[in-house]
Amino acid sequence: MPEGPTVKKWATMAGQFLGRKVLRTGGNTKRVDLQILQGLYFSDIQVHGKEMFMKFASDSSEQSSVQVWLRYHFGMWGTLRVNELKTISNSTLYRARYIQDPKPRLVLSFGEEEFLAFYGCSVQQVDAPLLDNENDVLRDSFNIEKSSSFLRQEKPVCHLLLDQRQFAGVGNIVKNEALYSARLHPMQLGSTLSSEKILELVEAAGNIAKKWAKDGTPYSPLAGLNIYCKKTCPLGHKVQREMLDHGEFTRITYWCSWCQPLQPTAPSTEFAEQVQVTETSGEKSPKTWLSEGSSKWPVVILKETSPGSNLYA
Ligand SMILES: [Zn+2]
Repeated sequence: MPEGPTVKKWATMAGQFLGRKVLRTGGNTKRVDLQILQGLYFSDIQVHGKEMFMKFASDSSEQSSVQVWLRYHFGMWGTLRVNELKTISNSTLYRARYIQDPKPRLVLSFGEEEFLAFYGCSVQQVDAPLLDNENDVLRDSFNIEKSSSFLRQEKPVCHLLLDQRQFAGVGNIVKNEALYSARLHPMQLGSTLSSEKILELVEAAGNIAKKWAKDGTPYSPLAGLNIYCKKTCPLGHKVQREMLDHGEFTRITYWCSWCQPLQPTAPSTEFAEQVQVTETSGEKSPKTWLSEGSSKWPVVILKETSPGSNLYA
């Protein structure tokens, strides 16, 4: 799935056509009126998390009589090509799945052989971009305090990090790398982490995403990854690879059982105060819940944390 840094790079590529008039449109989208875009000027582009927003207007003024915003979400396999169409020959994935060239969802032509071609994405017309600068990990305004509070939930950190409501732009690669950087087991419950460890994780996610946006390339992950798709970690330990089941955030997850052991850590001070309140209503504390195991999340064995041991049931 394209993550925030990749979408940001695509927006930069698309930005070369800012101020240009849309001469022709095409594609198999059924959710956008292609006719309405023709003759409008591409006047703005913004990225929020994994979503891209493009504005088209009848002229360059803010009071332009016609203004159209399109929202793109690239899903698992979506992509943007500039001045080229995706073909069977340049796509291993599509070569395996299709016998003909993939059909673009939307094509915006700005001149002879100058165009943007969107594939495999969801595109729709919206009134305006939906931006929350405090939850976009790529923005300087990303709210670390708010994100830290969000992580104090009785849910696995690998689940929480992928929640776009608070970590917009974080995808599976940033998730895996941030967890390794903070030496956290992916199924560790956020409510068991110390404030220092939570801060370390939040900062790691932001730093990795920003480094990727700065140094990465448009169609491949950041170079020099530590754990994602690796057989061994930087210290030479065997990397675990498993499709961890956590609802809508189920993804292949990589971790090192030596460097990232599952810790039965006590809740942080702040969370303990909160738990005291809930315990009066008969609810269990996170520590009790974790040590007993639960059918809610598949983490039940806490004693064995050495490589090769069965951490999951
Ligand atoms: Zn290791």
